[in-house]
Amino acid sequence: MRQSQMFTKTDREPPADEPSINARLLQQAGYTDKLAAGIYTYLPLGLRVLQRIQQIVREEMLSVGAQELLMPALHPREPWATTGRWQDPGPAVMFQFEAHGGQAYGLGWTHEEIITPLARRFIHSYRDLPVAVFQIQDKFRNEPRAKSGLLRGREFSMKDMYSFHRDAADLDEFYQRAISAYRRVFERCAISAVLTEASGGAFAKYSHEFQVVTPYGEDIIFRCCGCGYAQNREVSQYAAGDPCPKCEKTFVEEKAIEVGNIFRLGTRFSDAFHLTYLDERGQTVPVVMGCYGIGPSRVMGAIAEIHHDEHGLRWPSSVAPFDVHLVALGKDQAVMDRAEAVYQKLTDSGVAALYDDRQGTTAGEKFHDADLLGIPWRAVVSAKSGMAVELKARGSKTAELLPLDKLVAKIRA
Ligand code: ATP
Ligand code: MG
Repeated sequence: MRQSQMFTKTDREPPADEPSINARLLQQAGYTDKLAAGIYTYLPLGLRVLQRIQQIVREEMLSVGAQELLMPALHPREPWATTGRWQDPGPAVMFQFEAHGGQAYGLGWTHEEIITPLARRFIHSYRDLPVAVFQIQDKFRNEPRAKSGLLRGREFSMKDMYSFHRDAADLDEFYQRAISAYRRVFERCAISAVLTEASGGAFAKYSHEFQVVTPYGEDIIFRCCGCGYAQNREVSQYAAGDPCPKCEKTFVEEKAIEVGNIFRLGTRFSDAFHLTYLDERGQTVPVVMGCYGIGPSRVMGAIAEIHHDEHGLRWPSSVAPFDVHLVALGKDQAVMDRAEAVYQKLTDSGVAALYDDRQGTTAGEKFHDADLLGIPWRAVVSAKSGMAVELKARGSKTAELLPLDKLVAKIRA
């Protein structure tokens, strides 16, 4: 991508009306644009990051055998009336409105009401179980507070997975595999998420949240400083300083961002929609369900909260919009030709490069932008670098001069 042709430009200043770090940096660098509180456009750079996160999530869900589908975001009232959730939480969470003829609709904020009756079409016998499906889609929630950028959207990206089982033991087995898959997702996104017990609803004592500890988190967790066992404060019978029940150490209180949440739903929704199967003895039995959420857009915000410095973003290479930011310095035709050749070579080698080929922009401005955008490597071609390229990792103080073939190998590694 040539920066001279890029749709976006960086802003001189962060936005005045965004208190959170992720929103300030993402807006200033041209990754996102705020339409209204909690409603964001993903600009070309931001969309690349979001899609890479979504792809990591997709790969890990496929790895546990789940199948991808896409359900509608626009829902008629009826299935929500069936579970009572049209009324409660109703409009406190769901955007609801009337269409022609007085028909009531709402925007999906979760999809149990859609997937459970849908599963009735295909699940009849014990032979049809277990099975799991997921989607990656925008959800809509009437969030009262939306001041934390991508961390709390009114429209936001969610991966929601639903699993269907013969019994609680089979659900438990899948639930553990989902936990492992979630750990891999957050590891690959370079955020360390703490598995945290939270209130579980009617079917299980606990659900599990994945919490990223940062000073900007909206949740409070108690985490054992020894073994790492953690509970969300909202459910917890513990207090900071209490002894951990699993080891000899104590709980500390921390702020955290919930990036994922998994639930044993049991038969709550299968009962409501009469989702049953015939077991080996010909008995009609309710299907046991689990649900598993991750917010890719919230993950993107959390990565920005964690991976930045005073100069701008510092994307982990797994989610960065480009592998390398190639910067051409000076007006010299020889330098521009050389930079062009480097850009070609990178592109031909399958390295994703953002090429700062802008004319009339100073070296200072280019370096400032490179730091703000936060691409993992910066490669500079200038009169000074001669036939070599000056390569520097974002955040590092030292650069090294490399010939072209070494440059590609180093960025790839
Ligand atoms: P929270 O407690 O933060 O309001 P939740 O418990 O209501 O979230 P779930 O319904 O479990 O969230 O949603 C699954 C995942 O979707 C969450 O773990 C989070 O990553 C993401 N998510 C939920 N609400 C939002 C939101 N308003 N903006 C961005 N991501 C969200
Ligand atoms: Mg939650």
